[in-house]
Order: sequence, then structure tokens, then C-alpha cells
Amino acid sequence: MAKFNDIAKSGAKPGGREPETEARAETPAFGYPHNRAMAAALQKCLEKTFAGRPPANVRTIVMLSGGLDSIALLGTVLKETNHAVHAHHIEIVNFENRCKVEKRSVANALKYIRKHYRPFDYSESRSEFNVGKGGGTDLQLSLFTAFRLCTALGGNIDLVMTGHITPPFWELSEGAAVFHAGFIHKRRKPEWVWPLKFLASAHVQKKLDIYESIPEELAETAWSCRKPVVKKSKFLPCGQCFACKSMIEIKRIRAGRTDAGAGGRRPG
Ligand SMILES: [Zn+2]
Repeated sequence: MAKFNDIAKSGAKPGGREPETEARAETPAFGYPHNRAMAAALQKCLEKTFAGRPPANVRTIVMLSGGLDSIALLGTVLKETNHAVHAHHIEIVNFENRCKVEKRSVANALKYIRKHYRPFDYSESRSEFNVGKGGGTDLQLSLFTAFRLCTALGGNIDLVMTGHITPPFWELSEGAAVFHAGFIHKRRKPEWVWPLKFLASAHVQKKLDIYESIPEELAETAWSCRKPVVKKSKFLPCGQCFACKSMIEIKRIRAGRTDAGAGGRRPG
């Protein structure tokens, strides 16, 4: 029987602190690997999806954009479950001009994950749509690609995971409609889940929990900016978009903790 955290090579307990943390009270209870918020969110998601009775040999697809959320999701699934994992990246070529930096981010993240996590499969595809604003949301495209990927992999997929946190209802509905349409003539349909929605914290802390669910070196491979600026052929974060502001706030909080040493505390 496949069970959450069957493998957990680290020996970490989902939903609780690591044994070492409890034994050494002076160790700050934040940062990787002490921050267990993502592990707990994934556990809650899986318990709800499988009603406490997961099937044997769960096969999971993780859609990997190259952003922090999906990289952290892949790392957490690999660390906290024994699922057979297939990660997939779509190179989205459109007016936003983020495909090159995202692809570089994915390459760097994969390099780290392959070295430090357990094995998984990987594939990628490309969507080039340089008309207007691209014709729809990334979520639509992601789930359209996901059902085609399920078919390409032989159909025996249990879960498709995306790194969304709280998309608006209309966006979720569109995504669900696109996803379900792909399985109308199929006997078996995987569940589409987005485990980050189970993070209980408020926004800034939520992003911080995501950042700290994986090693800092891996988190730093992620590309977050929605509107990169090109200077001397280099892509730089704009520093103005919502994603950039979140990352700036995360860095500020983490720097404050370092200054405070072991006495630093989690923000509310
Ligand atoms: Zn930005």
C-alpha cells in the first residue's frame, strides 16, 4: 500500500518537526528543513484526494513552470512521497517573453534535483503563440498539455499536480473544463490537484513557507518575475511586479531572522 511519506529518505515526519529540532531547543524552528508547512499541505491534499486510502503505486505528473511554486512542489513530492513522478515543462513562447529565463530556471532546478533527490522522469513540450496576448491563461495550456501527456504516457496516471495557490474561480473552472474534456472517451481519469492551496498561512508567510520547503540553493534557481527586463542581453527581474515584490519581502524577512539569530521569530 502506497502511503504518504513511505520513502521520506530524510526520515522527516510530515506535519511535525524533525526529531533533531526537538532535541536541540536552541535551533531556530524556521528555514529548510525545519519548515514543514509544504509537507503538511501536501499530506492534507493527498489525504483529502484519496480519502485516507491511497492506491498502490501512485503515479503523479508535476507540471513544472520554472517558478518557485512548482519547483518547490516537485521537490516536496519527491521528498515526502513514494509516488512515481513525471515532471513536465512547457516552453511557453508568447508576448510575455519569459520562456528563455524559465527554461534556464528549469534546467538549473533539474540539475540540482537530479543530484540531491530521488529519480523521476522528465519531459518537455513547446507552445509558440505570438498572437496578441497569447489567447488564454497558462493554466488552460498547462492542463491541456497535462491530459495529452497522460495519454502519451499510457493513461495510468493517478494525479496531475500544478503549483497554483489560489487562482480565481473562473480560472480554475476553465482549467477543469479543459482538463476533463481530454478524458471524455477515457476509462480512467486522473485527479488534478494543486496542493499549495492547503497552505494555511497568510500570503507573505505562504510564499516564505514555499521558499523554505526546499534547500535555499534550489529555491534560488527559480524565476519569479512576470515581466523580466532585458539589459545587455541579460534578463533581470523588474522589481515591480507582484512576484518580484513577494520575493523582495521574503528576502527581507529572512535577512531579519539572520540578524536576530536564534531569537528570530516567524512573521505572523
Ligand atoms: Zn517582476
